[in-house]
Amino acid sequence: VSVSDLVASVPPLAGLPLEFEQIAQVDSKDMSFVIWRDLALRVAHHLAREDVQGVVITHGTDTLEETAWFLQTVLQPCKPAVITCAMRPFTAMVPDGPQNLLDAVAVATTPGARGVVVVAAGAVHCAQRVQKVHPYRVDAFSSGDAGPLGWVEEGAVRLVKNWPSGQSKQALLAMKNIASCVQWPRVEVVLSYAGATGALVDSLVRDGVQGIVVAATGNGTIHRALEGALLRAQAAGVRVVRSTRCPEGQILPKPGDTFADSRGLSAVKARISLMLELLA
Ligand code: ASP
Repeated sequence: VSVSDLVASVPPLAGLPLEFEQIAQVDSKDMSFVIWRDLALRVAHHLAREDVQGVVITHGTDTLEETAWFLQTVLQPCKPAVITCAMRPFTAMVPDGPQNLLDAVAVATTPGARGVVVVAAGAVHCAQRVQKVHPYRVDAFSSGDAGPLGWVEEGAVRLVKNWPSGQSKQALLAMKNIASCVQWPRVEVVLSYAGATGALVDSLVRDGVQGIVVAATGNGTIHRALEGALLRAQAAGVRVVRSTRCPEGQILPKPGDTFADSRGLSAVKARISLMLELLA
């Protein structure tokens, strides 16, 4: 379904001054760096236009949180860039996409709105916290114990937290780096679990990995066999970042921790941040 067909399926959008552009059309499990770069550049282009109040991005649900974090990190826009999605297909008896799209436009046209946010099932989530937490139900996204930024009710936004912060120097720099980048740094995610070994990490290091994010157990604990391999990797110059595989909360860092911690980012988002750091 093209973006113009999606917009046409929402009659209340008919009278609004909307422009649309198709950047890509992929199952979001296959999201690529090339699409991310093109998307970031086009969103930046449109948001810089005086006659544009905000941008809405339609996206598959599967990697939506990664795209949201990527865009928020490289753009930190002072206007809203609202990502929305659908859990049900366009052809479903009661599809959720049209309402999500209408709500996303409501957020994008809310005075004072800014940052990359996600709108789904009536909730507004920030890019930093949002995660897909359910493979099937319509209300599939959660911001964990942080909760959403607000809700969209009858076309009005009821905000309970602040919009994400605006543009920083790092964002401008990150944007420059991704525009000129040919080869993205290789960063992989590994998981700690009962009976984990270091074999995967050792082979990643042999294969030239530049960064590893470990999704650790609980408050950042790592199986000793895996930890040994990560220490060897770090000693060999590989950047290692520790996140938790717990879906809520964040690791409480202690002085003297051996690995950098993801400061509350999930493993997949910590991977994006580490890639952008390595790129810089
Ligand atoms: N396969 C879809 C995607 O692109 C799933 C969905 O949108 O719900 O993520």
